[in-house]
This record gives sequence, C-alpha cells and structure tokens, in this order.
Amino acid sequence: MSAIASNLQAVRARIAEAAIAAGRKPEEVELLAVSKTWPVDRVIEAARAGQRAFGENYVQEGVAKALATVDLDLTWHFIGPLQSNKTRPVAEHFAWVHSLERLKIAERLSAQRPSVLPPLQVCVQVNVSGEASKSGCAPEEASTLCRAIADLPRLRLRGLMAIPEATDDDAAQRAAFGRLRSIYNQLRADGLPLDTLSMGMSHDLEAAVSEGATIVRIGTAIFGERKTT
Ligand SMILES: *Cc1c(COP(=O)(O)O)cnc(C)c1O
Repeated sequence: MSAIASNLQAVRARIAEAAIAAGRKPEEVELLAVSKTWPVDRVIEAARAGQRAFGENYVQEGVAKALATVDLDLTWHFIGPLQSNKTRPVAEHFAWVHSLERLKIAERLSAQRPSVLPPLQVCVQVNVSGEASKSGCAPEEASTLCRAIADLPRLRLRGLMAIPEATDDDAAQRAAFGRLRSIYNQLRADGLPLDTLSMGMSHDLEAAVSEGATIVRIGTAIFGERKTT
C-alpha cells in the first residue's frame, strides 16, 4: 500500500472512532483531502486509494490540478482566501467554496457561475477566535450575510466553515467548534436550510467531529508536512 493510501486509511479510522464516540455515524462526516502545495501525482495517488473530494487554497494551483484530473471524476473545493479579481476561475472550475466572508465576492461568484454547471455550493466562513484570527466574518454578521447569499441565484448556501486558532488544548478546540455549531443551529432554527459544518483539520479533527463537523479538511495527516504553508 502507498503511504498516502495508508494515511487515508488511518484518517478515516480516526474520523470513524471520533464519530462513534460522539454517538454519530462515520458516514455523516465527509473527508476533504487538502492537497495544497503537493503536485498532482499525489492527488492521483489519493484518488487511486478511493478519495474523491479535494481542497485547494490557491486559485491557479487548484485550477491546474482540476484540469489535470478531469477524467477522474473528482470534486474540487476552494478553501482559501478569495480576492475579487480571482473569482471567475473559481466559479468555473470548483464545485464548492468554503471561505466566503464578503457579499461582494459571493455576488461575483454567482454572476460568473457558468449556466452549464450546477449551482456553486458555498459555506460562509466565520471567525470564532476573535482577535486571534483575521479570516471570516464576525459571528454577529453571519446571519445577515447568510441570508443575502441564500438569495443569490447561482449559489447554494450549504453551511458554515471555521479555522479556529491552533491549540493543543482539547477543551479549547471544542469550545471554538461549539461556537460555530451554535451559530449554525441558530441559523437553522431561523429557517435557513443548512446541512454543512466544515471544521476540523489534521490536529483537531476529533474535537470537530465530536462538535458536529460534517466535513473535515485534512492535509498534513494525508500528504505529510508541507514545506510551505
Ligand atoms: C491547509 C488547510 C487545511 C489542512 O490543514 P492540515 O493541518 O494540513 O490538515 C484545512 N483547511 C484550510 C482552510 C487550510 O488552509
């Protein structure tokens, strides 16, 4: 078995164990393989091991990998910061965007989504770590932003995403993920049809799964340590 195949197996086992410990079903948690900085042959190796969903942070790099693997039937998720002058290739080549934090970017993506493709699936990124993080909308802005995005014709709002401040403290990890989950629960109670909580990375996926993650975004534990971040 290749290193990537055995790493994937180990990550799937971690997800399953965390799900069962939390009284959830392992299949409620989707594994997104974050392939940023790795060459496309690593993606192909992971695809051979059964992985279908891949995440990328950089537009050009992600588009190049999506184009190089069109015959493999993979799903590409954009998870990095997105500037308004780079929205078109994302609207054209990705199935998902997890990192929406401004209405202007969402409006551009909706306008630029090709009519031959299904709506772009999107999550709103929320800053659940306060001053420690610069990414994501403020928790108190999430409701207004989600409502506006839900009205855009070529986007389908699926849920929320967060990248909490990195910490090894399990209770602190859970508290941050719990803040995202409570915003999500409130939006659902208010009538938004959300079904996705994108949270958890290599070092904190157990805490995320126990707090309700439906997508975990895993890079290092699958592909190894990146040389650059
Ligand atoms: C890089 C990255 C990941 C993966 O992080 P690992 O610690 O390598 O698992 C997940 N989400 C986002 C937004 C990232 O930028």
